[in-house]
Amino acid sequence: MANLVPPLDDSRSYIYCPACAKMGNGQVEMKRDTYQFKCPMFHSYSYAEIQRMIASGQVVEMVPTQIIENPLDSAIPCKIFLQPETWKAAQTKWAGRFHITVENLFALAVSDSVIYIEGEDVKELRLRGVKTGRDVLAALKAMQELERERDELQKQLSQLMPLLKPILAAANGVESVERTAP
Ligand SMILES: [Zn+2]
Repeated sequence: MANLVPPLDDSRSYIYCPACAKMGNGQVEMKRDTYQFKCPMFHSYSYAEIQRMIASGQVVEMVPTQIIENPLDSAIPCKIFLQPETWKAAQTKWAGRFHITVENLFALAVSDSVIYIEGEDVKELRLRGVKTGRDVLAALKAMQELERERDELQKQLSQLMPLLKPILAAANGVESVERTAP
């Protein structure tokens, strides 16, 4: 599995300038100088001031951390062929975890732990209220329970048969007598 490693840059604060944000520009990142944060508009905050602001409930926006994926040494680069729109959509959707997602998808696809269901079957399953793997399992378990009950009843019936036969025969006899009666 690939590692997710955030980059370290000592000169960056990863904090947007609160003063600039108040003036309507919330996207100005402050530079960091040990315990002092400064923005290009000459606003300046100490580390303690920022902490006090956060503690008093003031909104101090953090810059979203970019994540660099660092695959394991054992992973090998592979050339695969994709449609450009698929490639683009996957990179957007899995930004910051692209390689780990692709690796997991491939690992799952080649394992026996995935069941593929075709489009038409999916529609029918949905119509029957089956939407997740859990629903499939619940339906299977309910079916197995019904089968078990049916087998149990069948067994009880076959045990009773020797006793029931004469009664049934007698009942049939009475019935036929009644039928033939005028
Ligand atoms: Zn500023």
